[in-house]
Amino acid sequence: MPIDATQPYDDQNIFAKILRGEIPSKKVHEDDHALAFHDINPQAPHHILVIPKGPYVSWDDFSARASEAEIAGFVRAVGKVARDLGFVEPGYRLLANVGLNGHQEVPHLHIHLFAGRPLGPMLA
Ligand code: IMP
Repeated sequence: MPIDATQPYDDQNIFAKILRGEIPSKKVHEDDHALAFHDINPQAPHHILVIPKGPYVSWDDFSARASEAEIAGFVRAVGKVARDLGFVEPGYRLLANVGLNGHQEVPHLHIHLFAGRPLGPMLA
């Protein structure tokens, strides 16, 4: 079920548990500001999720409250993951779902990174 992106942060959400190591993930990158791991239900040959380490519900929450260092660190981590995994050529897609109409299901900001096949035109 999609979530309301304006809700308070719930530290029992599944990505908070992954960050705390309480449930496993197939990790591909970790640094001070970000964790990247394989999506459990991949929608492309490569489907990676990149999440900030801080408690941010959504892109809206993150862009409003995160520090400059967190924002820079997270954005750089997303780019690094794509480069390190060899996605830059022939390309990839980034996606962040926000709130009810965006069909965001997990209430911790995550950037989807899709690669490995032509992804077609952007869906509205
Ligand atoms: P959303 O709709 O943008 O919130 O996407 C949530 C994503 O999290 C979906 O693509 C799910 O497959 C993925 N997901 C949910 N639980 C897990 C998990 O435990 N590990 C990895 N990915 C997960």
